[in-house]
Amino acid sequence: MASGQTHQTINVAALVGAAGLVAIAVNEGWGDPWTSRVGFEWPVVVVFTAAFLFGTYLVTPDLDLAEQGVLAKRNWGRLGVIWVPYGYLFAHRGISHGWFLGPLTRLLYLAGLVAALAAGAYYGAQAGGLEVPPLPRLDALPWRPTWLWWVAAGIGGFYASQWIHLLADGVGPLHGLRRLAGKLVGR
Ligand SMILES: [Zn+2]
Repeated sequence: MASGQTHQTINVAALVGAAGLVAIAVNEGWGDPWTSRVGFEWPVVVVFTAAFLFGTYLVTPDLDLAEQGVLAKRNWGRLGVIWVPYGYLFAHRGISHGWFLGPLTRLLYLAGLVAALAAGAYYGAQAGGLEVPPLPRLDALPWRPTWLWWVAAGIGGFYASQWIHLLADGVGPLHGLRRLAGKLVGR
């Protein structure tokens, strides 16, 4: 089984390899990401890369071991404790190592935590008599279609980092579904 360090190296090598392929494609005249001639713009490349690195160093499938301590948890520094409940919730190489549900459990876990903290801070400050700005209304935001590309790039970069980890683990795409089915039939 690959160590956390090995996983990081494999992921970064894959990213560098992919960047090389894109560079070759651009050089061959397939399109220029900097001028969006292939339909995407440089912020999309930045978001994809950032999400990929986020999934390589900070939010890996092996956080299912966070109750013991694992490289990805240590990369968070003291904040790593936020993953301990996740480690207790998910068995090592169980649903956490599924291709579709696995990454989703980590995204939802983190989003739930951030939302709870933000709500606690906001309403706590309000209850404490502090002047808080009104919450921004989602429907009042100046919606731009390019945001969809950014969201897709973020999800794509994160999932790509998780899938390379799973491939290096020798875990196939049906692993998580099989685990889930096993749980449902009470095996
Ligand atoms: Zn793993």
